Amino acid sequence: MFHSSYIEISSSSLAHNIKFLKAQLSPATRFSSVIKGNAYGHGIEEFGKLAHTCGVDHFSVFSADEAYRLHQVLPRHVTIMIMGYIDDAELAWAIANDIELYIFSINRLEQAAIAARSLQKPARIHLDLETGMNRIGLDTAEIERAADIILKQPDAFELVGVSTHYAGAESSENHDRVTGQLNKYHLAVRSILQKGLKIKTLHTACSAAVMSYPETHLDLVRVGIMQYGFWPSPEIYQRYMGVSTDRTDPLRRLINWKSHVMSLKLVPSGEFIGYGKSFQASSEMLIAAIPVGYAWGYSRSLSNQGHVLIRSHRAPVVGIVNMNVLMVDVTGIPNVSLQDEVVLLGKQGNEHITVASFAELSTQLNYELLTRLPINIPRIIID
Ligand SMILES: *Cc1c(COP(=O)(O)O)cnc(C)c1O
Repeated sequence: MFHSSYIEISSSSLAHNIKFLKAQLSPATRFSSVIKGNAYGHGIEEFGKLAHTCGVDHFSVFSADEAYRLHQVLPRHVTIMIMGYIDDAELAWAIANDIELYIFSINRLEQAAIAARSLQKPARIHLDLETGMNRIGLDTAEIERAADIILKQPDAFELVGVSTHYAGAESSENHDRVTGQLNKYHLAVRSILQKGLKIKTLHTACSAAVMSYPETHLDLVRVGIMQYGFWPSPEIYQRYMGVSTDRTDPLRRLINWKSHVMSLKLVPSGEFIGYGKSFQASSEMLIAAIPVGYAWGYSRSLSNQGHVLIRSHRAPVVGIVNMNVLMVDVTGIPNVSLQDEVVLLGKQGNEHITVASFAELSTQLNYELLTRLPINIPRIIID
């Protein structure tokens, strides 16, 4: 292995999560797997192929580069939908390869028409509507104009869907805002239909909306965080557990991040460990160096705070996390040897390092921590 650490992705856990999520939906609602942010750190290619073997045939990405990577590894009949950024120069590539795209500005629509006409192939588009998030999306006047443009050039467009995104479905604090958005969405959809356009797919829901607002499911749901085994918020988890008959978390994490012991050293009492004076040995200590640091997303704020697992024991991080190395105290752990497996994230024996604990200490959100796992750490599929 050329790399100092690697990330395992569990295929059986993914199959389990997808089954649970699909069970929340009516059979008529399609499931789209959201794989932006390098599949929330799991690796677009590896995760995409795995989800496909679990029966997923619709994927949502943020940008054209993610669509390109996924398109390289999946069969053509799989749907790929770009919810965000694409350069005008890449529009022709997307249309030629049946990649679907969100339209959130009139300019994007006009550019898509130009590319479609030159290819003599319709652009497969989704009109993304502004309903209250005030991020991207067509407002009322733009919807009207977009509908006119599409109606005038029936050969340039295939209107696949109409979408919107909720501004905080993971918290009941935003309940009125979310239901207001859904109402506004339905009104806009009606106005598009009244113009004489046909819409195949209505879609609005992310993970949190899937769990909290069944009325948002419509024809397709776009699920990210929950397929990876994480809840969108503690509130949604607690509400689900409150009504579930089974007392165990129905989701399973897919990720284990692992490395090995690189070096072992006995440090005399009174010596400082690592850069500076943040940690002083109060007695003789056995210190293991692990070849992972902040250059690979192991946050420096876990200095003197984080834990790793070695021989199924928790070992505390001592001293400052370096760019490429961190040190842990293994004094109390029997038989630690060079090359022992080290778990940075995930489980070993009966012990766990959860992303939540990790994220809390480093003051990052689940989403943020996962997507910061660098792209160049190998992802390995396990059962
Ligand atoms: C990220 C995203 C989703 C998925 O969100 P999760 O909370 O991870 O399920 C759905 N729709 C859009 C537009 C998104 O950007």
